[in-house]
Amino acid sequence: MFNDDEKKVLIDLIKEKLNKGLDGDSKMDVLRDCKRKLEMPVPFSDLAFWFRAGYMDGVERLVNYNINVDDVLRVLNGAVMADADAMRALIFNRVECNRQLADHPTIQVDGYTKPGKYFVGLLGVINGLFGIGKDGMGSIAAEFEVVCKNKCVVPNGMTIDDKCLQCGEQLELGRLLKFFKVSEVK
Ligand SMILES: [Zn+2]
Repeated sequence: MFNDDEKKVLIDLIKEKLNKGLDGDSKMDVLRDCKRKLEMPVPFSDLAFWFRAGYMDGVERLVNYNINVDDVLRVLNGAVMADADAMRALIFNRVECNRQLADHPTIQVDGYTKPGKYFVGLLGVINGLFGIGKDGMGSIAAEFEVVCKNKCVVPNGMTIDDKCLQCGEQLELGRLLKFFKVSEVK
């Protein structure tokens, strides 16, 4: 791999790039730039390793064993900002599970959609980390745009229990807007 001098060059280069902010550059752009400046043959996989090392070395800690609900919200909403469609698809993806998981004391499981069947998703598991409130609910919820499938304008404050004021169609969930904290779990 690299000797210690080469490692130092790599780390400094990566830190310099990261401290400037990635702006429009993707991580791959940064890696390409580093590869060009190093003037030595470095496989991308090795660069990616040192890129992560550069991250951990003072730019951003990757390992944090003491996260709270706000940290989780920050990561989730960062993911929504990056790709709201992917995150929407991910949290709508429910996997059938057994009764034992459905009975888990804190993980939120859907037992209502189909009688006798249980479904678990990403958000239910994440909520399981933080316990449940007095209302039996978890502490993180997702906020969606409320839309009409006929593309009518839907006024603020309408929910999916409402019908479209223009065409009478049942309203539905549109874009994933953000995750938010619904209650303090004691
Ligand atoms: Zn409508």
